[in-house]
Order: sequence, then C-alpha cells, then structure tokens
Amino acid sequence: MKGAAYVGGGRLETVSVEVGPPGPGELQIAVAYCGLCGTDLHIAHGAMDARVRTPLVFGHETSGTVAAVGAGVEGWKVGDPLTVMPLVWDGTCPACLAGHQHICQNLVFVGIDAPGGLQQRWNVPASIAVPLPPGLDLRTAALVEPVAVAVHDVRRSDLQVGDHAVVLGGGPIGVLIATVARDAGAHVIVAEVDASRRSRIAALGFEVIDPASADMAAEIGRWTNGVGADVVFEVSGAAAAARSATDLAKVRGTIVVVAIHSAPRELDLQRVFWRELRLLGARVYQRSDFERAVDLLSRGRIPAQALISRVVPIEEVASAMDDLSAGRAMKILVDVAGEAGA
Ligand SMILES: [Zn+2]
Repeated sequence: MKGAAYVGGGRLETVSVEVGPPGPGELQIAVAYCGLCGTDLHIAHGAMDARVRTPLVFGHETSGTVAAVGAGVEGWKVGDPLTVMPLVWDGTCPACLAGHQHICQNLVFVGIDAPGGLQQRWNVPASIAVPLPPGLDLRTAALVEPVAVAVHDVRRSDLQVGDHAVVLGGGPIGVLIATVARDAGAHVIVAEVDASRRSRIAALGFEVIDPASADMAAEIGRWTNGVGADVVFEVSGAAAAARSATDLAKVRGTIVVVAIHSAPRELDLQRVFWRELRLLGARVYQRSDFERAVDLLSRGRIPAQALISRVVPIEEVASAMDDLSAGRAMKILVDVAGEAGA
C-alpha cells in the first residue's frame, strides 16, 4: 500500500506502508481523499521535528469507506462512507474531566502524534470515525475537518444574526470561517494581504480588504457605522494582525484567536480593558462541530468546489506542499486511493 510520509530533514517521500488487519475496537479505512493543510506544512518544513516521530505518515483531513471492521466494533459495516475526527483523548486529565476532551492535556492528534490518513489503508479507533450521509461525495467530505474548525470558531464567538465579523487572514480556514459566519447570518469582511487570494475570496461574494494598504480601524469603523466589529477572528498568525485586532472590535466585542502564533505577540491590553473586550482561544473542534460540518457540506452550504484548487496523486504530495507554501493554491486534495472519482 502506498503512503506519503515526512521522513525528517524537511523531506517528504512516497513510501510503502504495511497495514495489518484492524485491531479490537478499530476500523480499517480505505482512504479516498486527504486534504493538505497548514499544519502539514509545518511538519514538512521541519518545524515540528521535536514532536513528530519519523517516518510519519501525516494527513488528517480525510474521507473514505470502511474496508474492515475490528473485533467488538458495532454500528459499522464494510463499505460505509466515513471521515475521521483526528483527536484521541485520555479521558482522565483535568480538561477531559471538565468536559473539554477536544483540548485534552494529553491529546493525541492523529496525523501528527499518530499515523495519519495519507495511506491507502488506515486503522483508526472506531470511536473517532464519523459516518457520512450517502449523498455526500468523498471529495467534498475531505473538507469536513477544516469546516469543523470553522464551525467551532464561530460557535466559540457567540456570533449572532446581523453581527459584523472581521476575519483576519484569508487562507482556507479564514474563508471557511467567513462562510460559516455568513451562513449564520453575519455580515463578513475578510482581510488578506495576498492579491490573488483576495480576488478568489471576492468571487465567493465576500467583502475583502488589504490590511497592508488600508487603515483597518478606519475602514472597519466606516463598515460598522462607527460601532466596530462584533467579532474579530484572528486567523493570520501575523504579529500585525494581533496588534490590530483590538482596534477593530466594538465595545464588549469578541476577539477569537484561531491562528497558531509561533511567538508571543504584542497586544493592546489597555484597549481590552477600556472596551471590555473578550479575548478567546478556539482550538480544533468537538464532536458536535464535526457533525455540524458534515451537515453543512451535505446541504451544499459550503462552496467546496471553489475551495478545492486541485486534486493530486499521492506521488505529488511534495510538489503540492510547495505550491501551498508559496500561496499558489487554496485547498489541495490528495487522491489517496489513486482512482479519482471512485
Ligand atoms: Zn485528557
């Protein structure tokens, strides 16, 4: 069976993977598609070498069908379509005991801390498999994981119908947050520095702004009739965006930190105090977010085809990652099964 692995030293390779039968409590998945994301780029660039064990078959935005059912697994049969919520928690730490299993203090992220979905057969605990409705095609279903991120971020923000939301950063997650926020009834503007991304976002019907050339606070002020944004999503990971977020939020507005910031950032806490702002983190998703993402995609509420730049064979993972790295693509899917459209 073929797979794609990070082998260390900033190198990716197509590898041969031996996958045995599923163990007790496991499902074996015939992986159909796997999306590539920013976290995968961090792995490929060696930025997570201290965390990952190489060779690592990565990938966590998956869709496929059940290929085999392990002992003791109920409710699944061979051929069932599914996706995987790639989180395994210990169930015993303070976060888990408080009901926040998705941010377990000993969380295993499948595809980083355990083998991921860029392999043609993949054994996972049945507990993390999420069923797909029969009408949802498997290409579209490979977007469930990033859509679930967006669903979680919007849920955390307590966004209301009619709210004004600013999304700082127009990569795939930013666009999905914008999409989910708009679907929830908000007015949305996306700030993105890259011109080609701005035009793609505008084509989806969003207002866009270039934070490098605009006076963001003045523009958002005008856009909200002087009120300020109800919610600001910081998705860019840029220091300048973190610095500006407090200038954009209204009195008692909410700032949601979605991006992974690689260093401590300067933040205007005087402004947080003065306007009684709420500053929230939002990380991954809960099972309910995953199920909501499946529902949104099934009902065509997410412009999946517009977001998928292209589909590549497993042998082209490395070049696809180069394109993502250079901002030449939005979402690239890997046709893991090697039979596109199957
Ligand atoms: Zn835990």
